[in-house]
Amino acid sequence: MTQQLVIYNTLSREKEIFKPLHAPHVGMYVCGPTVYGDPHLGHARPAITFDLLFRYLQHIGYKVRYVRNITDVGHLENDADDGEDKIAKKARIEELEPMEVVQFYTNSYHSAMDKLNVLRPSIEPSASAHVMEQIEMTQDILDKGFAYESNGSIYFDVEKYNQSHDYGILSRRDIEEILENTRQLDGQDEKRKSIDFALWKKASPEHIMRWKSPWSEGFPGWHIECSVMSTRYLGDEFDIHGGGLDLLFPHHECEIAQNTVAYGKKSVHYWMHNNMITVNGTKMGKSMGNFINLDEFFDGSHPLLDKAYDPMTIRFFILQSHYRSIVDFSTDALHSAEIAMKRLMDASRNSSKIPMSESSTVEVKSLNKKCHDALNDDLNTPILIAHLFEAARIVNSAIAGVEKLTQEDITALADLFQTFLHDLMGIKDKSDLKDTNYEAFEKAVNMLLEMRQEAKQRKDWATSDKIRDDLTKIGFTIKDTAEGFEWSLS
Ligand SMILES: [Zn+2]
Repeated sequence: MTQQLVIYNTLSREKEIFKPLHAPHVGMYVCGPTVYGDPHLGHARPAITFDLLFRYLQHIGYKVRYVRNITDVGHLENDADDGEDKIAKKARIEELEPMEVVQFYTNSYHSAMDKLNVLRPSIEPSASAHVMEQIEMTQDILDKGFAYESNGSIYFDVEKYNQSHDYGILSRRDIEEILENTRQLDGQDEKRKSIDFALWKKASPEHIMRWKSPWSEGFPGWHIECSVMSTRYLGDEFDIHGGGLDLLFPHHECEIAQNTVAYGKKSVHYWMHNNMITVNGTKMGKSMGNFINLDEFFDGSHPLLDKAYDPMTIRFFILQSHYRSIVDFSTDALHSAEIAMKRLMDASRNSSKIPMSESSTVEVKSLNKKCHDALNDDLNTPILIAHLFEAARIVNSAIAGVEKLTQEDITALADLFQTFLHDLMGIKDKSDLKDTNYEAFEKAVNMLLEMRQEAKQRKDWATSDKIRDDLTKIGFTIKDTAEGFEWSLS
């Protein structure tokens, strides 16, 4: 590999040089959505963060197996061990078969991710298709003495585990203290300690999603599914496990405990967590009225939004912040992102229009290394974007005739935008869609504007104004230039 990637490992709380177990192969697992509701910003951030990592790892020469699961069973309300299954609840309210809920929201998740130009993972397993393996892993943990049965349900014995291992190794929580404080609180609970977590739950009579197991008819716990699906496809030791910071505890801590008992190892070498998204400085929540679905961004239908936002603006906005920083959404911030992205897109398009010179008056070649260095440094996208702005400044100066560039440097600038803005950051230029539809559309708009030019020449102002005004109403921006006209569709 020509690039040395450094990533921040939540486990060590340090930046570490990325060394895969079996280079050039990389195994990467990311916790996917629980498919019981419309995809929202909270889904967009991990998907985009790890999409960037997926793209970058491949760019620097790795062959990546990227596994991102679909949680379609076992995820209970409030991420707890008691209460209703999120999907079963939705099915009950909407009078649907649970798998109809799963299919409907899996489809809407895929559709939103496609719009955001998030690449599909290599494997997308669902929890309900791996119940057998979850039963087997639960049995294994039970056999090894780190779980107990209670009323047909199986719980992981955290206190016992913590005597010989470190529960809290990832989240750095003081488990002794938690155990101390929860000792008296348990009362009549099925669990011995409130910190214990379910590996298997006995289904109540009205529970629809149920499977046979040696202990009861029931369903698997939420944490065991990720231990099973990650190791099923990546082996019992693999490179990267990612997810949102909200999953760090207890979800990922529990995965480590389960794997340590079942496989005698922690399994994951690099734990990566993206930070949260706030809206106007407050946490997103259904009850807060600031819960904006991705489709509402795309069509502008949410009351907090002033207009529709292109999925690429959302993507660019998320990547403007480092993935470990909090992103705060506001319409002002979205407007700024829109303007910044447009500047880079314009520069990318205009790089082909720079006139060639014999020699360059500005240094361009080091930008490629600087952009790689930014991504090598724990995917530092804000720094990457700063370098792309420097490239945009050079493009604009060269077009204005202030700077001169050789053909080699012009090509280097165009490649820089293609590689970093389009291929890696995944920002698509709509005018890049060189399909037949787009070409026909482009020709039709050019034809109208040529008719407008002709109308102007014969001083038919009524026709020329009508063409301009009507195109503007549709959303086109028309600019008269020395050579004729330029147009864009916002
Ligand atoms: Zn997970």
